[in-house]
Amino acid sequence: MGEAPMKQIVVLGSGFAGTTVVRELERIFRRETDVAITMISRHNYMVFSPLLPEIAGNIVEPRHAAPPVRIFMRKARFQQAEVLAVDVAARQVQVLYPDQRTAQISFDYLVIGLGSVTNYAHAPGADVNSFDLKSLEDAIRLRNHVLLMLELADHTADPAVRQELLTFVAAGGGYAGLEGLGQLIDFVSKALRYYPSLRRDELRFLLASHSRELLKDVDTKLGGYVAQKLGERGVDVRLGVSVTAVSERAVVLEPGGSIPTRTVLWAAGIAVSPVVESIDLPKDRHGAIKVSSALQVEGHPQIFALGDCAAVPSATGTYAPTAQNAIREAATVAQNIAAHMRGGGLRAFHFVPMGSLASIGHYQAVARIFGVSFSGFPAWLAWRAVYLAKLPSLAQRVRVLLDWALEMVLHADIVQLPVMSSDDMRFMAMRDAHTKMIEQDSAHAEAQADSRRQAQQASEAAPAATPVAPLEG
Ligand SMILES: Cc1cc2nc3c(=O)[nH]c(=O)nc-3n(C[C@H](O)[C@H](O)[C@H](O)COP(=O)(O)OP(=O)(O)OC[C@H]3O[C@@H](n4cnc5c(N)ncnc54)[C@H](O)[C@@H]3O)c2cc1C
Repeated sequence: MGEAPMKQIVVLGSGFAGTTVVRELERIFRRETDVAITMISRHNYMVFSPLLPEIAGNIVEPRHAAPPVRIFMRKARFQQAEVLAVDVAARQVQVLYPDQRTAQISFDYLVIGLGSVTNYAHAPGADVNSFDLKSLEDAIRLRNHVLLMLELADHTADPAVRQELLTFVAAGGGYAGLEGLGQLIDFVSKALRYYPSLRRDELRFLLASHSRELLKDVDTKLGGYVAQKLGERGVDVRLGVSVTAVSERAVVLEPGGSIPTRTVLWAAGIAVSPVVESIDLPKDRHGAIKVSSALQVEGHPQIFALGDCAAVPSATGTYAPTAQNAIREAATVAQNIAAHMRGGGLRAFHFVPMGSLASIGHYQAVARIFGVSFSGFPAWLAWRAVYLAKLPSLAQRVRVLLDWALEMVLHADIVQLPVMSSDDMRFMAMRDAHTKMIEQDSAHAEAQADSRRQAQQASEAAPAATPVAPLEG
């Protein structure tokens, strides 16, 4: 009797969704030898996004907020690659490796956890003139830029230009906008001690939210609380106001007109990535992949989607794109894959969060847990405890804890770090692959020359051939 064929489970993405699915699958299938699990992602780490504002604020070291995914893999295999396309009918994923090789990876079960991209629609110029906060590079770039604004303002006499340099705008009333702005306020305020010509009252912080409520998708009561607390910190909070254009030196608000600034943190919405858009699966009106309550894609029982790229039905619409939801959805996806494989019944996803927390800087956070709102230092401690516990490894927790402890006793670090974009890295990978090819070619040519030389030497060293005796007539 032949062995049962290996079942291939392929998980796309190493974010909150992908990493949690893989960890759960490892636990469920640890003893099964006929199940292979492969994770494919463009980075070999997970970005712990709630800590990105603290990287921008120079509190947490970038690599401490990026746990490497291989540390929790035992059975699963990881492939660092860009997902280019998914051929649903052929059950194959097309990938591009960093050395520019491409491959087709077959699957029996597919989990799509490819997250989201920043949505710049409706604001011309936002894509090139603003900063977003979705990757480690984004956070470092924002910090460098803010420091550059302080450097420039320090030797600028013109009050209008100084005001432009010292105005910081965040667009968007979700986690990224609120927490990003909160950390910027702290960072700039602490850095001021090194810029003696700049006064605290010259700094201007503005938050513009298209929605009339902050944290609209998460908890509007908590959002109201955040608006109040940010206002108390001197932030000009504008609700029901859209950013309609961003240029190098201004934002245009509607209503509100043009505000001179060179720093816009763009966190005004997310969209699905072009690769998710290209996959031939049912989508909702925002382009998110439509799934059932069991997180299966409609009409494709062996394809699951979750996290920011999926429209997961809830009692009131769809679940919000949050890390909290992605983690919970992941456990259901892993259990449902196992149930489907074993012929069992699938579970519906249902989750009521215990509460929500948002950190707004200056040792301040706001929280609503079991319906009770609280803020200030206790909420800030709760925020830190919750996110510390959510970091996937002990090493990461210790590193972040040390970063937090050091930040409380040391002055602001105002070094501008060089940052490399993904494009730079891709270019370097291509250049390395090219160099390797040239090295291989020249090694091959040298080996051929060597063997020719050896053959020549061998023929020279051989005894002279016996002269042929003349034919006797
Ligand atoms: C600054 C900020 C703060 C936040 N704070 C909170 C918070 O406090 N609480 C909360 O609940 N939520 C928070 N969120 C939201 C939360 O981060 C997201 O909802 C969560 O990351 C979604 O998880 P995901 O796995 O679906 O996507 P992601 O975490 O974005 O992961 C997507 C993965 O797919 C990979 N990928 C994408 N495209 C490709 C491709 N073509 N090829 C290969 N790999 C690819 C990416 O590299 C990544 O590994 C915050 C978000 C931001 C930006």
